[in-house]
Amino acid sequence: MTATVRPDATRNASPYLYGQETPAAVQVLESGQYGHTDVTEEFERRIAGFLGVADALAVASGTAALHTALLAAGVGPGDEVIVPSMTFCATIQAILAVGATPRFVDIEPATLCVTDQLVMDAVSDTTAAVIPVLFGGRAVDLGAVQAELDERGVAVIEDAAHAFGSRNGTRRVGTTGALTCFSFGPIKNLTCVQGGMVIPRTPKEADSIRRLRLLGIVQSQSERANITTYRVEGFGLRYQLPSLNAAIGLAQLDRFTATEHTRRRLWHTYRHALAPLDGVTLVDVDVEHTVPHLCQVRVPHRDQVFAALRAQDIGVGVHYPPNHLQPAFADWRRTLPATEQVGEQILSLPFHQHLTEPDIEHVVTALGQALKSAGGSRCATC
Ligand SMILES: *Cc1c(COP(=O)(O)O)cnc(C)c1O
Repeated sequence: MTATVRPDATRNASPYLYGQETPAAVQVLESGQYGHTDVTEEFERRIAGFLGVADALAVASGTAALHTALLAAGVGPGDEVIVPSMTFCATIQAILAVGATPRFVDIEPATLCVTDQLVMDAVSDTTAAVIPVLFGGRAVDLGAVQAELDERGVAVIEDAAHAFGSRNGTRRVGTTGALTCFSFGPIKNLTCVQGGMVIPRTPKEADSIRRLRLLGIVQSQSERANITTYRVEGFGLRYQLPSLNAAIGLAQLDRFTATEHTRRRLWHTYRHALAPLDGVTLVDVDVEHTVPHLCQVRVPHRDQVFAALRAQDIGVGVHYPPNHLQPAFADWRRTLPATEQVGEQILSLPFHQHLTEPDIEHVVTALGQALKSAGGSRCATC
């Protein structure tokens, strides 16, 4: 069986390089300028221009983006942060990093995203922030309850790690008024190998993030070349985005139109191929507005189906095991019926830009067979 699988279908996710990333990285390497340099600043300007925002602030990772955003929003010890359990553990670790506690909430099974209602039901006097996770790239619109959240002093910090390039209606994610965090990790829609970006809400917030990511130092790296000292004005971490990573991100951004197009096309191909399969529910990413990051289905007998596909060397995955069931987060465990149910059903199919249409057909055929041998395709709850 293994011999029939093209290598690309064996991977669940994989970065896609267009060719200019390597010479761009080599150029930076040979320049000897490695920190937060003008290459990093050019990357920030280009991302801000792409989105149409005043400031985009580069940081070392998506996790660093979330940590920095929480600090900039003033979230700290004693505060509660509303967050779906269905997210990568990085979201939760960022909350713990500022000394706050996660208030886990459930999701809508069809989209794996939170809703207005789920968020508002969890708001209390100790809520300082809510982190909607833009699952699979799908925008989460809390617009209807924004005024109420503002009134209660609850900051909206979007975990848009999956969602670079996606839209909420006609507006790109990052331009809708929330404090937005992107990841440019290895397998995200745009990669810097490792990196992240925070879109601040105000110039004051932007200044605070600039300091936080550079060890609390007020002056930028280039300003420091002309002075004998520097001022440390507050807490900060080594969270800058190195020029090497920024150069890779710039090359990726140059080809982002192709990325958007390919990811949508592959997702459509999956949707079409999966439609005849009984018992398989595709997670709805709202593909018209979304640059899809994942292609997920919900299936019965998930663990058996997963094992059968892995045995054929097909790169399936699970995004994600629910966080409220993780030992590290046991103190904040609560019952989340939808999350617990979909946590046992979700399966991420291979999804990356190296895939071909025959790869997708192969994956879907194997999925159909795996479902049959796993005990039938009927699922009362899918
Ligand atoms: C990738 C990811 C992060 C963290 O980003 P890194 O760049 O890996 O630190 C956070 N949240 C979600 C949902 C992610 O997928």
